[in-house]
Amino acid sequence: MADSVSEVVTPMIREYYKSVSSKDITPAHVERREFGFGDFDRTIAYRHMAFGNETKLHTYLIENAPPFVSYSPSEYEDPAGRPMESKRWIGSELVFDLDATDMKLSCQKEHGSSWVCQNCLDSVKAETIKLVEDFLIPDFGVSEREISVNFSGNRGYHVHVMNDDIYRLGSGARKKLTEYIAGAGIDLKSFFPALGERGMRLDGPMPTDYGWGGRLARGVISALNGGEPALMALGIEKPTARKLSKNKAEVILGIATNGNWDKINIEHKAEVWTNVLNGMAVKQGDQIDRNVTNDIYHIIRLPNSIHGKSGLISKKLRSFHDITGFDPMKEAIAFRNGTMKVAATCPQFSMGGDTFGPFNGSKAELPAYAAVYLLLKKVARIVE
Ligand SMILES: [Zn+2]
Repeated sequence: MADSVSEVVTPMIREYYKSVSSKDITPAHVERREFGFGDFDRTIAYRHMAFGNETKLHTYLIENAPPFVSYSPSEYEDPAGRPMESKRWIGSELVFDLDATDMKLSCQKEHGSSWVCQNCLDSVKAETIKLVEDFLIPDFGVSEREISVNFSGNRGYHVHVMNDDIYRLGSGARKKLTEYIAGAGIDLKSFFPALGERGMRLDGPMPTDYGWGGRLARGVISALNGGEPALMALGIEKPTARKLSKNKAEVILGIATNGNWDKINIEHKAEVWTNVLNGMAVKQGDQIDRNVTNDIYHIIRLPNSIHGKSGLISKKLRSFHDITGFDPMKEAIAFRNGTMKVAATCPQFSMGGDTFGPFNGSKAELPAYAAVYLLLKKVARIVE
């Protein structure tokens, strides 16, 4: 990162931390948390830091204006202790890191993985709602007030669950939870005992069933009601979707009243329903993002801190429900004052309610938040 960018952005980060209240950037039980900080090149350059109270943390953020701040969802007797074992783990929030890059979206082939478009933001928001409404609340028995959601600051959302029963779960149990929401290791035969056996009626799950079986039945019924396009969105191929849609009243009646999935005959049943099930799973990255959930020693972006690769705030939502209308490119803006001249090369984007670009190396005077966004995305340079 060019020194000039650091020289320009660091005072802006400092002003942001001066402007926020200590309460808004301090996690519960701050004295038991481990903190880590990054620079403009590395999201975590050093860690194993601890702060006795919210004033000490806030003062540190103002004095150092770090581009990245991470904290431990875990609580420790001695959060600054090293090595990790000497910290003496007490318990941990359950955290999910949902990132648009894990969703294999077609738009990413066009704009690359470091750029974020509206489709990326909308898709990852839908995935976050799915995680909470289809898994955490109905299957894990978590209540809405135990869930806290924040924008990641770049291209996703973090979901934090503060639940007494989950708090003490070790890494092994957390891994089972991520596997469950990913639909990993589900044997379709457990829902459809007669699958693959000739001449047997295909009895399967009913919408009232608990867990994945009920989810599959409800999802298919809802798609049947939505018609051919909704069925195809579940990964069902056109000819099969058409056949199901034509006979939907009969098919729905069969599944809903006695779990009869064989009202009409479709080819490659096992493959069709397996694809549908995979489409209903939550898409989390295979390694790094799942480690956020599984590894109790992981540290993650502090809610309401600055993200050093966008200049946006990792904005904490007041409640989960606020996510529906939340627009990070408006509500997560930190640097609201002034303008800057940059030369940029990037697609068109919207920020703060205005549309900018596309830019093709041309010079432009932009609001500071938009200019910093492009500088940190490394698609612009400062010009005089
Ligand atoms: Zn996109």
